Formats: sequence, C-alpha cells, structure tokens
Amino acid sequence: MVAELNILTEWIPEQMEPGTVFILENAGEVGNQEDPYWAVLACPQCGTLGLITRRQIGGLIPVICGSDKCSAQFVIKDEQVVPRKPN
Ligand SMILES: [Zn+2]
Repeated sequence: MVAELNILTEWIPEQMEPGTVFILENAGEVGNQEDPYWAVLACPQCGTLGLITRRQIGGLIPVICGSDKCSAQFVIKDEQVVPRKPN
C-alpha cells in the first residue's frame, strides 16, 4: 500500500495512480449534507477510484476500498495513509 497521498490539482485520469487524490470542484455540494463528498481517491492498494467524504479526508472516519478484490481499510492522516486492520 502506498503510504503517502499525492494530491492532484487538475483532473488528469492517467495520473490517478494508487494513492492519488483529486479534490472535487464541487466539494461539499454533493451527497450527505452532514458529510458531503469531497474528493476522488485512487485506492492506495489497488488503484480503484472511489469518492471519499469530508470526514474521510479529514481522518475522522476510515476509508474502505470499494473493489470486491481489495479489502484495504485505512485512515487518512495529514496526507498519510494509515492502514487499519479489518474488524
Ligand atoms: Zn483497493
């Protein structure tokens, strides 16, 4: 698993390697008002793209990869990926 996130400021699909984050242009406007979608993250383990919320990028709740073939669970802390053991 990649240990450090790489924040892209421009949406460049070819550069969405594992551990890359792209902050949505409409961050905070979509999804649950309490915890809106904030960014697209390429799973640091398998590279599957998924939306993450404000609480997830703020490290308040863990991120779980959406891929069936990957069981990555981690917390984002100061742009670092902190792996979390499955329950
Ligand atoms: Zn994954």
